[in-house]
Amino acid sequence: MRRIQTSSVHAGRDDFAKLGVHASPIDLSTTYPVHDLAAGTASFDALVGGAAQAENPIYARLHNPTVARTEQAIAELEGSGSCVAFGSGMAALSALLLARRASGSHVLVVRPIYGSADHLLACGALGLEAEFVSVEDIADKRRDDTTLIIVETPANPTLKLVDIRAVVAAAGDVPVMVDSTFATPILQNPAKLGARYVLHSATKFLGGHGDVIAGVVCCADQDALALRQMRALTGALLHPLGAYLLHRGLATLALRVERAQANAIEIAARLACHAAVAKVYFPGMVGNENGQLVGDGIAAQMRGPGALMAMELHGGLGAAAATMAAVKLITPAVSLGSVDTLIQHPAGLTHRVVDEQARETHGITPGLLRLSVGIEHVEDLWSDLDQALTCAVDFAAQRLRDAA
Ligand code: PLP
Repeated sequence: MRRIQTSSVHAGRDDFAKLGVHASPIDLSTTYPVHDLAAGTASFDALVGGAAQAENPIYARLHNPTVARTEQAIAELEGSGSCVAFGSGMAALSALLLARRASGSHVLVVRPIYGSADHLLACGALGLEAEFVSVEDIADKRRDDTTLIIVETPANPTLKLVDIRAVVAAAGDVPVMVDSTFATPILQNPAKLGARYVLHSATKFLGGHGDVIAGVVCCADQDALALRQMRALTGALLHPLGAYLLHRGLATLALRVERAQANAIEIAARLACHAAVAKVYFPGMVGNENGQLVGDGIAAQMRGPGALMAMELHGGLGAAAATMAAVKLITPAVSLGSVDTLIQHPAGLTHRVVDEQARETHGITPGLLRLSVGIEHVEDLWSDLDQALTCAVDFAAQRLRDAA
């Protein structure tokens, strides 16, 4: 079996030799001629039933070869039988929730998770009853109509690590979905630990260049049928141009993650000693919960800490705003996993839609900033961050003077 660095470059390219091409052809057809009606009907039936492919693609809402190649690549990276791609991470989550509704309407969710995912679940928009629980409560809270258990690890935005094996053990026969966006398949493969569904916002590291919105669910072939059915029903498609960009981004995924992670390890260590910073949240760092889940120990589920971190500033909201205003090289923006470094304020942006009490309970405070480290030179990143955080220190000092 080829190694993940090789899969990152070569996966999803099996038909290139037959096609005589070196890059994935972008098929923009919306419809495909049906000269033989009986064969066309058979293809239609297969695709509407959720088949991955058929002799005739019929219509681009049912199948697209450029999208299918990207899916094949991600399935290989994740070590799952199938992958189903959608127009965004939220579309992927919605399709999975709708598909699971057939077997129950109760879901258990371990907070924190991405703000909009939390909002979707909490507001009951899809007719589901979401119950927010701790890992320890899962076994007791399971019901006959519980159809899915949702966790995110590392979690957005505090990088909290959830023990996937413990969740799977507590879940019994209820399927577990792990949002593994922060880890990428380079660092973590939840399906190999028993998760039935692995979700990625492919907008992030998988695409990697901040120019495509996409989402995927990786799962067994049998489970993919219902997801493709739901995608065809709701039209939550990934456009072939987006799929092309995503596939192109995958080629450098391993390289990008390795480099960004090396930068992040250095930056997290320096942040921990910075006068503006009260606490750094970085997987596996001393003082962080569940550090045994990172590395090569027996309990590990993540091969490295990744490139995301969060920091609590001494100066609260004012210091966080001052830092975001002062960065010059780093972009103050939501999203993550791009080649360039991004910093954002979860309480004011990505997690603003989360219940205020829940934000507080899960450490999404006014002084929390989330940093997505890119592949720039670490010293350039540090000098920008250091000068921006110095503005935060000045802000905190001024506040103290004002209070005196
Ligand atoms: N999951 C996580 C962990 C995310 O961070 C995001 C978006 O930031 C999503 C899901 C949703 O993905 P998208 O923005 O592609 O819809």
